[in-house]
Amino acid sequence: MSEQLEFILEKYFFHSGFKKGQREIIEDVLKRKDVLALLPTGGGKSLCYQLPGYIFSSPVLIVSPLISLMEDQVQQIKLRGEKKVIALNSTLPFLKRKTLLQQLKNYKYIYASPEILQLDYIQEALISARISLFVVDEAHCISQWGHDFRPDYSKLGDIREKLNSPPCLALTATATKEVLQDIKKILKFEKNSIEHISSIDRPKIAIKLEKFSYLDEKISRVLQLAKTLKGPGMIYCSSRSWTEKLAHYLQENDVSNVAFYHGGMETEQRTLIQHQFIYDQLDIVCCTNAFGMGIDKKNVRYVIHFHFPAQMESYVQEIGRAGRDSMPSVAITLMTESDCDIPKNLIESELPAFDQLHHAVSLLLSNEREEEIAHKSGLTEVQWRYITHQMNKLPNPLHGHEEEIVTVIWAEIEKRRKTKGRRLQQMLEWLNTDKCRREGILSYFEESLTEHPENCCDICGINIKEFEGKEEKVIAANVFQWEEELREIFGQGE
Ligand code: ADP
Ligand code: MG
Repeated sequence: MSEQLEFILEKYFFHSGFKKGQREIIEDVLKRKDVLALLPTGGGKSLCYQLPGYIFSSPVLIVSPLISLMEDQVQQIKLRGEKKVIALNSTLPFLKRKTLLQQLKNYKYIYASPEILQLDYIQEALISARISLFVVDEAHCISQWGHDFRPDYSKLGDIREKLNSPPCLALTATATKEVLQDIKKILKFEKNSIEHISSIDRPKIAIKLEKFSYLDEKISRVLQLAKTLKGPGMIYCSSRSWTEKLAHYLQENDVSNVAFYHGGMETEQRTLIQHQFIYDQLDIVCCTNAFGMGIDKKNVRYVIHFHFPAQMESYVQEIGRAGRDSMPSVAITLMTESDCDIPKNLIESELPAFDQLHHAVSLLLSNEREEEIAHKSGLTEVQWRYITHQMNKLPNPLHGHEEEIVTVIWAEIEKRRKTKGRRLQQMLEWLNTDKCRREGILSYFEESLTEHPENCCDICGINIKEFEGKEEKVIAANVFQWEEELREIFGQGE
């Protein structure tokens, strides 16, 4: 068996050996165990389900949280020459759906969004395709306590049962022990399931924090870093407007090949920026956390946090986008005292206020169509999804009792707000510590550090010079070629 794995690895993936942890995970998947695997970002999680695809005789189903992420994966698989891959999501052309669904069993990999899996006719098609392996990518999205909770993920355990309980592989890069337990419970793991938990540490990423008294100083520093650090780099901001402001500021100050990226941009524009960055036509992207998940760019040399995130899970995920090629990289957080209010406000606005909840519940109890009341409620999409998810979780007898429903959901909201507050507190403590930052991160995930790398963190001491030496690149004249190609793809040619 072992030689067979190496053979497939080379023949279909063109790799000469396994990365740390991959083989063990794959072997247990092949034994048809339920497996929970934590490998750091860039650790090669996709291979853990793609390789077994060549051994199982029926399709592997992969649940993935973002359509863009799914499309990327499909494209990468096709690029290495595998055509039997399909993504089921809302963008699938309606007319083609029926034929495609009848042929599902002929595919090797079926990617699906959790939303589309709720549909009966999709479930039926998957049942006849006899799924061999049920993969949940970015599995931390399943837990209420995960940093990136997606309500639709919490139904995946039931869906797996409906598909006749194929073995499950849950993959994540960042999860606390609590979240790991939650993943197994919600996905209904069998009793003798297996865990492969690697360290989340990325020894090749140096960690640095710089504090400033005034915003102006922080802005000058980001310019200086953009001019000196070896790129490509990413600069994380807390808001859409900051990504734009910062990108313009850098451009005005002679930093070339800079762009911004956030969730408020048109899809076409977002895809363009993403491609230009991946293919080294852009040096710096100022972005919100909408950028990054699943982007397989290997040579990112630095990640700057112009604003720090509200919890350690997000921080680790974001800095993890540096150095996927295992070459030295640096993560720098720039902070001023007043930055602490930003995540506090974000947490406040993410969840609905009491009046908003009351209003939403009475709308939901009316007989109007859901799309209309969603609009009338005046809530953000995230708030709305959160409330409807909580409503659906309620036991039936509660239906109709407005006050009781509000009380129950409000208690949930308070609980969530408290948890988030506690996480932010831990993040702030970490930012203000005078102990090794790497140890601090690991202890958050209940791990301990065995060895400090040479360039560890600002507390242990790092040599920032090693990350400097920006080369001015002359970008070829075909920078805008992507725009044309994308216009063709999106059918807005003339
Ligand atoms: P993750 O999902 O864990 O962040 P990916 O599955 O996207 O990581 O893999 C990261 C990169 O590592 C990809 O470019 C992939 O081709 C590469 N990779 C995966 N497995 C191997 C291997 N065994 N040898 C060399 N490169 C690998
Ligand atoms: Mg991945």
